[in-house]
Amino acid sequence: MGLIVKAMDDVELIKEKINIVDLVQEYLPLKKAGINFKANCPFHSEKTPSFIVSPERQIFKCFGCQKGGDIFTFLMEKEGMEFKEALEMLAKKAGVTLKKTPDRTDFKERLFAINLKAQEFFHYLLTKHELGKKALDYLKNRGLTDASIEQFGLGYSPNSWESLTKFLLKRGFNVSEIVLSGLGVASKTGSYDRFRGRITFPLIDAKDKLKGFSGRVLNNAEPKYINTPQTPIFDKGNMLFGLNFARTEIRSKNEAILVEGEMDVILSHQMGVKNVIASKGTALTEGQIDLVKKYCQNMLLCFDMDLAGDSASRRGIEMIDRAGFNIKVISLSKGKDAAEVIKTDIKLWQNAIASATAIYDYYLQSVSGRFDLKNPVHLRQIRDELVPVWAKISDDLLRDHYIQKLSNFLKIDDAVLRQAVEKARAGKERNYTEILQQAKDDAVGVSSRRELLEEYLIALLLHPPKDFVFVPGFPETLFLRESFRQIYVLLFLYLDSISFKSKAFSINEFVSDLPKELLLEVDRLYLTELDDKLSGSELWQKELEQVISELKKALIKASLQKLSHEIKNAESFGKIEVLTVLTKRFRDLSVKLKNL
Ligand SMILES: [Zn+2]
Repeated sequence: MGLIVKAMDDVELIKEKINIVDLVQEYLPLKKAGINFKANCPFHSEKTPSFIVSPERQIFKCFGCQKGGDIFTFLMEKEGMEFKEALEMLAKKAGVTLKKTPDRTDFKERLFAINLKAQEFFHYLLTKHELGKKALDYLKNRGLTDASIEQFGLGYSPNSWESLTKFLLKRGFNVSEIVLSGLGVASKTGSYDRFRGRITFPLIDAKDKLKGFSGRVLNNAEPKYINTPQTPIFDKGNMLFGLNFARTEIRSKNEAILVEGEMDVILSHQMGVKNVIASKGTALTEGQIDLVKKYCQNMLLCFDMDLAGDSASRRGIEMIDRAGFNIKVISLSKGKDAAEVIKTDIKLWQNAIASATAIYDYYLQSVSGRFDLKNPVHLRQIRDELVPVWAKISDDLLRDHYIQKLSNFLKIDDAVLRQAVEKARAGKERNYTEILQQAKDDAVGVSSRRELLEEYLIALLLHPPKDFVFVPGFPETLFLRESFRQIYVLLFLYLDSISFKSKAFSINEFVSDLPKELLLEVDRLYLTELDDKLSGSELWQKELEQVISELKKALIKASLQKLSHEIKNAESFGKIEVLTVLTKRFRDLSVKLKNL
């Protein structure tokens, strides 16, 4: 472990010596705003400042154009520098002599080497050994050829606790390397195998480096997939499966097809459609989008779910749009699994690709499926759902085109709609208190109000009043968004531990071992400005309670809606017993809602 610490030295040392506030102030004037500093953003044009610098966290963040980072990122963005140049310039400024860091590269090479050794082991077991027979049969049954298994280097990790660990030890790797590579999990006696009884997929980057593995179960056990955890050479948020084989084709077609899983990718390549890659889930990261951006401008998405009806997917799509891609959605006939289609009917797959729907037309299709266009209440709901989406279309011409389309669709004047969209664009700075006060789910739309309240709740918890000891008592299930749940659980543990030791809240202490994806989210919410009044503990607590109760109400309302749907179903099928149970549950919940 000591080696990593040493390699980080220079960067950390420079960060300690240079205050981000001073550095930014060499370029633009900053104004004090509460615990932070504020300015008009140097990276996009604006009239009201949404560029925030935090001396505590030593980072900046623009809430308009979303740019953010530390002193290095700031220089890279502002001066168009590479990391190395920024490092050299800041080292000079800080009076730090840069050390050569051969240690780090040697050490990383060891991790690549251990991965390659493990790959040999897994691949041998799958293709040559009795232990891998079942897994091999399974893959053949799913339609994979020997050539594909060879090309993608699939393997099998036996269902035992230490066979890989023992193998690697015998090959000259030590326990700490095995654990650091993520292949082993540290235990009292050393290390045990992370991947057990799984088909292994090597995760190889665009430079053909083997960075980690994902492992899939053969049956329906959970979790279906596990991955190498974050390591010095692997970051899930910077990996797309299949990119090493797909990149040439993606470049020449100027188009990437993003699918859900490893199997979809391999089968598609096997059938000759080779510009296909997989993300792990729909929650794409900026890092993954950047990877594709090098090769093409068109992105086609093929997922099993309704992307327009799911808020995590909508956020992913926003990011892809901001990165400048043209986005289309590939729709397969209902209930059909991509891998199934690709394997059995390659023509159907090719046709589905050729007739992919432009993303904003896809949104329109999705709402026509989910809402009744003859019902004025539903038309309003469609408007509420799509106006915020339309507001985020970054290209002006494209946005205007779809404002026209949506106004035809809703049969309202396009000037009225344009105004609503512009208003939503201007309102990017969030006024949480306003959202909280609006009892109705007005312009922000049903799902987004709930989401904004979840966000507000985290923001409040990250800004406890000074010298105020507080441990929240609500369950994490109050959050629908997974990342908020994770943040809340960690925050809860932290708040509990400091209250026990009666220590003050320290943001730096809380984030010190947060995973990177969560850290970005926490920093954004920590840098969000809250109303000044909320620095008093009484008002802060009151506000907190109100947000919690609103979220509880929203949860119950959603369950009631679902129940009433189920009741209607039960009625039309004459299921009396079910009906009794459902109606009772409906009554109980209604009472609960009333008493909140
Ligand atoms: Zn900006």
